[in-house]
Amino acid sequence: MKYISTRGGMEPAPYSAILLEGLATDGGLVVPESIPQIDAETLESWRALDYPSLATEVLSRYATDIPREDLARLCRDAYAPEKFVAESIVPLTPLDGGLTLVGLSEGPTLAFKDMAMQFLGQALEYALAHTDRTLNIIGATSGDTGSAAEYALRGKDSIGVFMLSPQGRMSDFQRAQMYSLTDDNIHNIAIAGVFDDCQNLLKSLSGDLEFKRANALGTVNSINLGRISAQIVYYVWAWLRASDAVAPEERGSFEVSVTVPSGNFGNILSGHLAKAMGVPIRRLVLAANENNVLDEFFRTGVYTPRTAADTHATSSPSMDISKASNLERFIFDLLGRDPERLAAAWRELDETGRIDLSAELPRFLEEFGFQSGTSTHADRVATIRQVHEATGIVIDPHTADGVKVAREHAEDGVPMLVLETAKPEKFPEIVLEATGLRLGMPEHLAGLLELPQHVTEMDDDETELRAFIAARAVK
Ligand SMILES: *Cc1c(COP(=O)(O)O)cnc(C)c1O
Repeated sequence: MKYISTRGGMEPAPYSAILLEGLATDGGLVVPESIPQIDAETLESWRALDYPSLATEVLSRYATDIPREDLARLCRDAYAPEKFVAESIVPLTPLDGGLTLVGLSEGPTLAFKDMAMQFLGQALEYALAHTDRTLNIIGATSGDTGSAAEYALRGKDSIGVFMLSPQGRMSDFQRAQMYSLTDDNIHNIAIAGVFDDCQNLLKSLSGDLEFKRANALGTVNSINLGRISAQIVYYVWAWLRASDAVAPEERGSFEVSVTVPSGNFGNILSGHLAKAMGVPIRRLVLAANENNVLDEFFRTGVYTPRTAADTHATSSPSMDISKASNLERFIFDLLGRDPERLAAAWRELDETGRIDLSAELPRFLEEFGFQSGTSTHADRVATIRQVHEATGIVIDPHTADGVKVAREHAEDGVPMLVLETAKPEKFPEIVLEATGLRLGMPEHLAGLLELPQHVTEMDDDETELRAFIAARAVK
């Protein structure tokens, strides 16, 4: 399998070569040359596999340049039982009203980003060892992405991590999670400023090609194809587990729908790929919060990215987006995987600030199964309360966005799965507001808040940051 650019201007490259970069050399996004197909028989033959073995099967369709035994070892290490709370790695839990939660938050940072980042950490280390290179990841985080990256890359000799965070703007939990790490290769840098200041520092360093090359700098953001490919696995897993109880002769026609709390369109893009590979997914329901630029796109066919200033800070903060870079990969498929049509659409975006695909709107549902909806703070509170009253289960605000929108799209006779993207303990305020419960730390993390914290406080000063990185980068 080779990888090409959505805009047609990149030499086809193998998986290991595009692991780090989701961005193609021509400004497009990297996508597989063709979408691998899985027939019903193959899918059935995977039923007895545990999660790491299933990951090996699915990822072997994408990472064709990594020998199978090596890939199996990477998956075993990524999804080792001691890193996940649930023995099955991804447990399915029934809710009321025919909904089922797919638990993606059993990993070290209690959010679904661990599912992809744990694999990416293993795969990056492997690819670096084979080319005798090192890598220094720089990132800016206001919470979840940074911690998932740090927990996936901690202790790796060939990789350094420099994570910028805004001083005093993260929750006690998030700070404790990141700053308590003692690994030599992890560098937490608290910038005197807000998240945008961190982001600007990052942009400016990433734009300096010479500095970037001298320090082997890279990023692991949500357009990373290693992450996207690893996320496909849990869609396959979820269908297998949902169909375990179905009579074998009926499994062939057994479909599920999946609702996905969405931000940068990374998670649900993996669902789109799973469906295109042949996993029997009927609907992919995109759940947005008040920042509903994607809901607007899936309802009208018109994509109008907003500005950072037009992005609301909500109680499901990991979905607070103004544009969604990964959408380009879906639009590529929508336009028949034709790079010229795709490039024309992006020229229209540059010139007019919008892409009008309303002529294709019927195909969004008919061909690709997409539906969407929006949830507000009041909806999240009501949903967390309702689910708790009906089932005793406490869900986090992002998952609540999903449950609210899922209920609006559930169909009789079609199981509706909702991806649980984080644990409620990360968002105690809204849980208290909704249920009156005061959530403490999960048992296995008791004591985290009391651990000594390791962080370098720094002014919003690029010169100081450069010197810090240059002195500590893994060379
Ligand atoms: C990142 C994140 C999302 C959004 O996922 P995308 O892949 O960006 O669509 C949703 N919920 C939580 C808790 C997240 O951390």
